[in-house]
Amino acid sequence: MHYSKGLLWVISGPMFAGKTSELIRLYDRTTYANQKSIIVKPMLDNRYSNTDVSTHDNRTRKSYVLLNIEELNEVVGLEKPDNVFIDEAQFFNSKVLNVIDDLRKESINVYVSVLNQTSEGHPFPFMDKKADVGTLLAKADYINTFTAICPICGKFATKTFKIEATGHEVDVGGSNKYEPRCFEHWEPKK
Ligand SMILES: [Zn+2]
Repeated sequence: MHYSKGLLWVISGPMFAGKTSELIRLYDRTTYANQKSIIVKPMLDNRYSNTDVSTHDNRTRKSYVLLNIEELNEVVGLEKPDNVFIDEAQFFNSKVLNVIDDLRKESINVYVSVLNQTSEGHPFPFMDKKADVGTLLAKADYINTFTAICPICGKFATKTFKIEATGHEVDVGGSNKYEPRCFEHWEPKK
């Protein structure tokens, strides 16, 4: 497949589907081609590392950790990248949609990983709740939907199940709080 510059490639799925691993694979692919690429992620997600993008199996790449998505403009001004990789985009506010549009107008390719749904089964809202990841998916040139494996039955899992109900729909955590589930074995609350 070949896309023009300014593409939007979205990696979507539940937790434990390998979204960040895929983001790293696509990042490495561009750096092998001597393209300038940067990875950014929201400050909120500090489960594994503050300055690296990490997968659950501890594969890491250097990243810019941003307090808010507007800081990306400054980083892009400094780095002048061909490609911007945004990890865990659902933890930015909905201005990320505008920032992505602006990057694309500058012929910068944008690769984004997002959680598809909250543990309540809703399209994942951005932090200001003014839009959700459905808008991002609708704008994408290309979408990879990844699945995990349901630990109950072994079928493909597209949903994220919250093991302990805390009452917060957006609650950052890892395998201690969440697991992937198929549609049959998922429910909003335990
Ligand atoms: Zn299942």
